[in-house]
Amino acid sequence: MKRQTVIGLVLLVCGFVGTCLGADGQKVVVIHAGQLFVGKSDVLLSNQVIVIQGNRIVDVGTAGSVKVPAGAQEVDLGKSTVLPGLIDGHTHVFKWKSQSLDVQMLHTSQYRMFEAAVNAKKDLEAGFTALRDCGSMGAQYSDVDVRRAINDGLIPGPRMQVATLPLIGSIGMPSERAFPPGVIVPTMHLVFDGPWEARKAVRQEVKYGADFIKLFPGNHGSRGRLGVEPTMTREEEEAIVDEAHRIGVKTACHTSGGITLRDSIELGCDSIELPVDLDPESISKMAEKGTFLVTDISNKRSWEQFELKATQGKLDQAAMQKVSFQRALKAGVKIAFGANASSGAEDHGSQAKDFEYMVEYGMKPAQALRAATAVGAELMGWQDRIGTIEKGKYADVVAVSGNPLENITELERVKFVMKDGEIIRNDLK
Ligand SMILES: [Zn+2]
Repeated sequence: MKRQTVIGLVLLVCGFVGTCLGADGQKVVVIHAGQLFVGKSDVLLSNQVIVIQGNRIVDVGTAGSVKVPAGAQEVDLGKSTVLPGLIDGHTHVFKWKSQSLDVQMLHTSQYRMFEAAVNAKKDLEAGFTALRDCGSMGAQYSDVDVRRAINDGLIPGPRMQVATLPLIGSIGMPSERAFPPGVIVPTMHLVFDGPWEARKAVRQEVKYGADFIKLFPGNHGSRGRLGVEPTMTREEEEAIVDEAHRIGVKTACHTSGGITLRDSIELGCDSIELPVDLDPESISKMAEKGTFLVTDISNKRSWEQFELKATQGKLDQAAMQKVSFQRALKAGVKIAFGANASSGAEDHGSQAKDFEYMVEYGMKPAQALRAATAVGAELMGWQDRIGTIEKGKYADVVAVSGNPLENITELERVKFVMKDGEIIRNDLK
């Protein structure tokens, strides 16, 4: 095609969609925000303008101080509060029914893939433009395909980091999943024995697409049972963390408390996932080392009544988690948002309920917002690309009608979502 014809075609496209293209042929969108939470401080800035070219933010500032390119598509979000796209630091797009093998046994992996796609879409529409998927729940490496399908534009969904199969030592296999040889059931985990097998497992997962390594040094907890038994030796856990870091991926360590919590922190796990009982010494070590804490408050709270009844009031993991959360908050531990959707009460798209509980447990609303933006980005190692509204970052932007610093439940009613420069929904029109 001749150059002139190409230019003509570009101008034609501009005319049809009512927007113009930037110097290098990328679409330019300008968002007018009544209030803006940048993600770097606790304050809201008034009357802000965000300039987006292609999928990147190229300028942000007070109206009047920012040059609005001629012909840009202008999106006026009125008095609403604009925030960075939300990040769910612990989720599972593959559906899983706790304590039951129904999902893995009775559904084909193809059917489960549809469910995962629907969940990813729900999360995105609720404002979660990035997810850290902490295990494919028996769907093997299919989380890699979900990520790929989203990145290829086949299906709508958040940016994703996936863990594939969580690693677990063979002594920790829950009894209901210990099928005898010959009975083939899609396992939720990659089971190993010994440090060298552990290293091999890490290499295999990364080779097949894992972005980070999820492991269960401590056993699965469940409703009515605090899972603190080790599933692996310290030597095995050390091998996993070392191998992952040697390759350049992070480790997300699930432990409820006890010895595996202390080992995980000492061995350099990057994050402690869904703990229940954080002792004061572990908390100060986490604060000192910069270990992230990811909690699933709604999930644990959904267990509370059952648990109290089943144990005659002896076990209340939600109450224990609350104490741990408050200690960690006071000590300055980096707390990231992660609702563990798909395995408890919180379904995809409604996980923003956790913000309410984080504030109820003592976080300032701005802190809770940062847990799901700037801190979440750092948890993923993506602080250079998402988590704040800044020049150079991906254009992942959400908006709510009211002021979330005054009413955190605004996050449960996200009205505008943009991911990668594309408007996913806009109910503020
Ligand atoms: Zn989980």
